[in-house]
Amino acid sequence: MFARWKIRGLWLAIAMMVLCGPVFAAAPLDDLLVKAEVARSSDPKLFQRLLGQINDQSDQATADQKERITYLNAYSLIFEGRIENGLPMARSLAESAKDGDIRFRANMLMVNAYALNRQFTEGLRQLEQVLQDLPKVRSKQIRHQGLGVAAVMNQQIGQSRQALEYVERILADVPDGRTQCLATQVQVEAKQHLGLLPTEDGDIYKGIDQCVRQKEFAAANFIRIALARKWADLGDSERAISLLRKHLPEIERTRYPHLIAEAKAFLAELTLEKGDAASAELYSQGVLAQSASVTSSLPLVKAYRTLYEVAEQRGDLQSALRAYQSYSQADKAYLNEVKARELAYQIVRQETLQKTQQISLLDQQNQMLQQQRQVDQLQAQNTRLIVILLIVLVASIGYWAFKIKRVQLSLKKMAETDALTGVCNRHHFTLRAERALAECARNGEQAALIMFDLDHFKNINDRYGHETGDWALKQVAEACKGFCRRIDVLGRLGGEEFAILMYGCDLRAAARVADDCRVRLAQIDTKETGHTFAITGSFGVTSSTMAGYSLAKLLSQADKMLYRAKHLGRNRICIHEPAQEHPREGGSNVLELPQREGRVEQIGA
Ligand code: GH3
Ligand code: MG
Ligand code: MG
Repeated sequence: MFARWKIRGLWLAIAMMVLCGPVFAAAPLDDLLVKAEVARSSDPKLFQRLLGQINDQSDQATADQKERITYLNAYSLIFEGRIENGLPMARSLAESAKDGDIRFRANMLMVNAYALNRQFTEGLRQLEQVLQDLPKVRSKQIRHQGLGVAAVMNQQIGQSRQALEYVERILADVPDGRTQCLATQVQVEAKQHLGLLPTEDGDIYKGIDQCVRQKEFAAANFIRIALARKWADLGDSERAISLLRKHLPEIERTRYPHLIAEAKAFLAELTLEKGDAASAELYSQGVLAQSASVTSSLPLVKAYRTLYEVAEQRGDLQSALRAYQSYSQADKAYLNEVKARELAYQIVRQETLQKTQQISLLDQQNQMLQQQRQVDQLQAQNTRLIVILLIVLVASIGYWAFKIKRVQLSLKKMAETDALTGVCNRHHFTLRAERALAECARNGEQAALIMFDLDHFKNINDRYGHETGDWALKQVAEACKGFCRRIDVLGRLGGEEFAILMYGCDLRAAARVADDCRVRLAQIDTKETGHTFAITGSFGVTSSTMAGYSLAKLLSQADKMLYRAKHLGRNRICIHEPAQEHPREGGSNVLELPQREGRVEQIGA
C-alpha cells in the first residue's frame, strides 16, 4: 500500500502572495512594492523586473519599506532555488523585523525554504515557531496563510488529521475566496486519506467550482483527482478516467509538474487496469517528462511500475527489466523520502513534547511558587490581623479596666463619703477611726476624739429653710477640715453631729483644736444665704488616756461631754479630764473651757 505523499509548492507559493500590510498613498516605492507582492507567484518575470526597480530605490526606503523589500528579496532567492542565500536573509528578518506580521511571514518563508530543501526537521521546527506566533498576527489573511502552511506541511508528512484540523480552522474563520479554495483542496485530500469523504459528491463539486471561480485551476484539478480516486476506489474506474481525461488539457495548461504527474500517473494506472496498455504507456511517459521536477515522488514510482507492467504484458522483457530497475530505484528514493519525513516528524514531535513537558513543569513550579507566595501573604495578613486584634483587645481591656476602676473609685467614694458635706460618713469614719486608734495603740501614741453638735439647728431649718440648713452644714464641714491634718479623721455622724479623731494628740491639744473649731463656726458669714444668723456648736472632747483605744468608749465619753456642754448653755467645750485635776460628781472629771471673746448669738436659747 502506497502512502499518498505529495510535495506541493502551490499552497506554499500562494501563501506568499499577500500584500505587505496596508497599501500606502501613491508613493512610487509603495506602488512598486504592492505590484511586486501581487506579481510574485502569478507573473515571475514581472516580479523580477519590479524587484530590480525596488532595489534601485531602496536607499530612499523607510524602515518599514526596507523590511518589506528584504522580505521580497528573500522570497525571490528562495523560489529561484538559491535557498542558501535566501534562508539566512529570511532568518535575520524573522529575528529583527519591527513589524510583527513581517516577522511572521519571514518565519513562514523559512518553513517553505526548508520544505523545498527537504530539510523536514528544520521545516517542522520552524513551523512550531509559526504556530506559536499565530495568535499575535494582526492580519486575518496572513493568519490563514500560517494555518495553510501548517496544514500542507502536515498533509505532506502524512499527518492528515492534524492537517484537517488546521484547514477547518481556516474555513470556520470566513476566509477570502482563494483561501477558501486552497483550504478546501487540503480538506478533501486529508479526508480522503482518513477515509472520511462523504458519500455524496456535492461538497466536492462545490469546492471545485469555488476554485474555478477563483481561477485556481491547479487546486480545482487536485480536487478532481481526489474525486476520481474516490470513484475508482468504489469500482467506477470508467467515470474516473473520463473525468481526468476531460480536464487533462486544463491540467497541462497549469504547467504545474506535480499536478500533471499525479493526474497522468493515475490515468496510467486506471487505463492499464482497463487493458488499454497504449494509453497507460503514453500517460506514464507524460509523468516521466516531469521527472526533473517530481523526483522521489509517488507518481514517478507509479509511472515506472506501469511501464514495467506494460512491457511485461507485451513480452518485451528487456524494456520490462529496464522499467523495473527504474521503478525499483524510484520506489526506494520515494520510500527514503517518506522515511525522512516521518523521522523528521517524530524528532520534532519528541522535541515539542519535551518542550511542552518542560513548560508544564515550569508552569507547575511557577504555580507552586505563586501558591506559596499567596500562603505567605495570607500568613502575613493573618499575623497583621492578629496583632491588630491583640492591640484592639489590649486597648479595650485597658479602656474598660480604666473605666471600671473609675466607677469603682467613684462608688467607693460614694460609699465612704457623706454626699452633702464631702467628709467621711459614719460608717467610713468608724472604719478609719478604728484603724487610726489601732495604729496609735501599736505605736504607743495618744489619740483624742472631738464630737460636736450644732446648736438649735432645727431653728435654722425652720426659719431660713432646709436649703440654708444644708448650706450651713457644708460650711461647718469646710471650716473644720481646715483644722484637721491628713492623719486626722473628720466625719459626719448623722444630722448636724460631727466627730474628729485626732491622731497622736493629747487631750489638751484636742481641746485647743475643738475650741478653734468652735470659734471658727461662730465666725461663719451667712450673708450669702440672704440671712444673718450665727452658727454655733457644743463640743465634747476626750482622749485615749481617759477611754483607752476603743472607739465606742471614746464616742460615748465625748457624747457625754457634748451633752454636758449643751446642758451648760451650748457654744462651749466640755473635756473629759482625769479625776485628780478637776474632780466632778458622778465620777466624771470634766473641764469646761471658758468662753472666748466674740459675739455669739444664741439662737432660740
Ligand atoms: P440642740 O441645740 O438641742 O441640739 O437643738 P437642735 O435643734 O439642734 O436639735 P434637734 O435634735 O431638735 O434638731 C436637729 C435638727 O437638725 C432636726 C433636723 O431637721 C435637722 N437636720 C438633721 N439633718 C439635717 C440635714 O441634713 N439638713 C438640714 N437642713 N437639717 C438637718
Ligand atoms: Mg443633734
Ligand atoms: Mg443640735
